[in-house]
Amino acid sequence: MSYRVKIDPHRCKSCELCVAVCPKKILEISDERNELGFHVAVCRNEQDCTGCLACALVCPDLAIEIEKEPDK
Ligand code: SF4
Ligand code: SF4
Repeated sequence: MSYRVKIDPHRCKSCELCVAVCPKKILEISDERNELGFHVAVCRNEQDCTGCLACALVCPDLAIEIEKEPDK
């Protein structure tokens, strides 16, 4: 099973909680800003995501969704 890490750039407030909590260290704050001026979190190396949901649960702005993807 692989996972898609969907981060809504419009909701992200750049708090970095998801970056801190991810056990695989695959989330980071990017240079890209949303319309409110916050640098948005992105997932690098999505293939390493274990689907643990820690990031989605910790995000105070409900900006992260983890989607299961069947292996091709
Ligand atoms: S679900 Fe877990 S492994 Fe995947 S990005 Fe979120 S915290 Fe990291
Ligand atoms: S926890 Fe949510 S609001 Fe905070 S940086 Fe991550 S995606 Fe953005």
